[in-house]
Amino acid sequence: MKCRHCQTPLEHVFLDLGFAPPSNAYLNKEQMQAPELYFPLKLFVCHQCWLVQTLDFTRADELFSADYAYFSSVSSSWLNHAKLYAEMIMKRLDLDQNSLVIEVASNDGYLLRNFVAAGIPCLGIEPTASTARAAREIGVPVLEEFFGEVLGQRLAKEGRQADLIAGNNVFAHVPDINDFTRGLKAALKPGGTITLEFPHLMQLIAYNQFDTVYHEHFSYLSLHTVERIFSSAGLRVCDVEELPTHGGSLRVYGCHENDARADAASVAALLAQEEAAGLHDLALYDTFQARANKVKDDFLSFLIAEKAAGRMVVAYGAAAKGNTLINYAGVKPDLLPYVYDAAASKQWKFMPGSHIPILPPSMITKLRPDSIVVLPWNIATEVKTQMAHTKEWGARFFTAVPEMMELP
Ligand SMILES: [Zn+2]
Repeated sequence: MKCRHCQTPLEHVFLDLGFAPPSNAYLNKEQMQAPELYFPLKLFVCHQCWLVQTLDFTRADELFSADYAYFSSVSSSWLNHAKLYAEMIMKRLDLDQNSLVIEVASNDGYLLRNFVAAGIPCLGIEPTASTARAAREIGVPVLEEFFGEVLGQRLAKEGRQADLIAGNNVFAHVPDINDFTRGLKAALKPGGTITLEFPHLMQLIAYNQFDTVYHEHFSYLSLHTVERIFSSAGLRVCDVEELPTHGGSLRVYGCHENDARADAASVAALLAQEEAAGLHDLALYDTFQARANKVKDDFLSFLIAEKAAGRMVVAYGAAAKGNTLINYAGVKPDLLPYVYDAAASKQWKFMPGSHIPILPPSMITKLRPDSIVVLPWNIATEVKTQMAHTKEWGARFFTAVPEMMELP
């Protein structure tokens, strides 16, 4: 297998999580009677461009055949993050009724709704029918297509180049990252700005976030690698911010390579920080499997100890992260009988692989569990606040990553 960006043959395994079903393949009752598809879940690191990437395998399109259950607007903290970004970027780029904002992977309109409200023309690009429909219902125009060079060039030909192209948590999820980046280049107006947000590989390694690894998450990115990918498509990284979202993300600002604006000092500073952290050295990548295994072992030990002590443990949040952790640990309903989740689209279904049933959060008062493991640790505090009524019977909250611990 060759590197998806630079075509160098890949020799170095970064992480091997065995086999797992697609993390978003929630099962209904009928599907529970049928065979389930498992794919290798293995990451390589390219020693030329340092792109960390999932193993390629045939039938990858099957991962995307299901209509995803994920609606961005379910998370109130994510909605707030989107609103703050919209206010900031409208001001920074002086966007008005003559501008065009394109968002790639616009989901249910959680972000573009802010531009619609401000009277700024926008266009969402979203291949998933159910979320695209939800976006249209709140007045966000949507093209129901996959984004890449072909669509970017078509938008350019139609005179629909954008002043701003935003992409939140999509860059790491596209199988052909070079084609996607060429699409950004084609759809960007001269003088226009691209902003992309994605989890930062440096934080993934520093905080043992191996559970953010899943098949649909093709690339694990450093600023160094993104700069190389941009450069090969005729784009330039001109600014970067570190964000707390998803356990530590980057917001990269891009422009055409010949754009007049100078690079912000933050770009060189973060590149130096990545190098100092060892991101350009195979030794750092070699130690990660052992750290992932320790997190997995500690999670299992916790579940077994709680069970032995006669305490009931449940989980909160049927997110992709949880599926990676649970399936790698081999946990089944005997150790973790239920997962509670606020998304109606997941409730009364079963977690892929582990087959743990997913229930609405309101039902937690029936079971009154002693311990609740919050699987999406990035929103653990928000979840604990929402579930404050569990204090009534003294429930305790835990997270498993970066290590097994109780929430304060
Ligand atoms: Zn490479």
